[in-house]
Amino acid sequence: MNNIPTHAKDYLNNAHYADNIIEGQVVCSCGSISFCLLYSGTTTIYNGYKIPCSIETDTGSFFVIKARCRKCKKEHLLFDSGLHGWDVKVCPELGKNVMIPRPELIEWECVKCKQGEHAIKILFCYGSEEDVTEAIEEGLIDNPADAFEWIYITIECLTCGLVSEKWVDYETA
Ligand SMILES: [Zn+2]
Ligand SMILES: [Zn+2]
Repeated sequence: MNNIPTHAKDYLNNAHYADNIIEGQVVCSCGSISFCLLYSGTTTIYNGYKIPCSIETDTGSFFVIKARCRKCKKEHLLFDSGLHGWDVKVCPELGKNVMIPRPELIEWECVKCKQGEHAIKILFCYGSEEDVTEAIEEGLIDNPADAFEWIYITIECLTCGLVSEKWVDYETA
């Protein structure tokens, strides 16, 4: 994999490519790396830490994370389970939950110091090259990087330094 998912092209910088992963840092077009993270308000406990999780509605579930630049206020969509990843791109019939209205998102506070300025790294994981090639041949995707099967987001609090590894750990296939 040597590309960046289409939805992340505007903000994923310093990308590092390995066999089946792409990893990079979120950098705003204004140059800032300090963001307010936005999530749906639902959380769960994982490895003893509070993390955001999917929201359940009568018509399905979904998971959305955005980042708002602390400097210029521009918002970047980091992940929406109804728009991004393997199932939605390659099995579009599974992407129906995109139709559910997204709620007003709320700001994430550091679990340690309660502040809201974070640096963000995103890691996309991919399945076999054959599967991705097949999806391209079938005309389901144009950009192989869009067919990621897993997304991890790690955040670092810029106030107290707390690093939350795999703050998002979401399988899309
Ligand atoms: Zn900015
Ligand atoms: Zn903190």
